[in-house]
Amino acid sequence: MKILVVEDERKVGKFVENALGEQAYTVKHVTTCAAARDALAEAPYDAVVLDLGLPDGDGLELLREWRQAGFNEPVLILSARDAVEDRIRGLNLGADDYLPKPFSVDELVARVRSLLRRQTTGQRATVLEHRGVRLDLLSRVAERDGRPVELTTREFALLELFLQNPRRVLTRTLIAEKVWDASYDLETNLIDVYVRRLRQKFERPGGAPFIKTIRGTGYQLA
Ligand code: CA
Repeated sequence: MKILVVEDERKVGKFVENALGEQAYTVKHVTTCAAARDALAEAPYDAVVLDLGLPDGDGLELLREWRQAGFNEPVLILSARDAVEDRIRGLNLGADDYLPKPFSVDELVARVRSLLRRQTTGQRATVLEHRGVRLDLLSRVAERDGRPVELTTREFALLELFLQNPRRVLTRTLIAEKVWDASYDLETNLIDVYVRRLRQKFERPGGAPFIKTIRGTGYQLA
């Protein structure tokens, strides 16, 4: 599990980093909005701990951008601003939890753990649908326009990733990490081969594309 910690007070950031690191989470600590944007564009994270007052901007703006871009992993806001309006604004923008400073590190760890647990035990939909394509995650059945489509395990996992992130551009790195594993060789074109197979299986003849190629970056559900 990888966690991004965005906190400009170095001492607090280090403290959080160490506490989460002791729980065997992999932590990346950044201190600015710019570095947080870069980190999230470069690699997938399972959760974000986000301070609001950052030297080059507002954490709430970052949160808004991420949610608009389809980043739907849990975000825990960490801030000295414990005013009710800030808390409500943050939750409205899609934060999953809010911890006012000063906080106890045990509480932080407990909340992060609970967010990740919620994430993995699924408050998530068990049926995903997009433009006539339907994926039932429990029965493992895929359909197009009501007709079953045969998928291999890997094809199913790739389609699930697209349908879970309908508005997000999925980079090759992210697809490799989520669908294959760390040993995936980015020099091969295996991802492209699998995307082509999904297109063949789900695009209607002569119809609109199902998955768009974002040149130089990756793929996005159309
Ligand atoms: Ca701050």
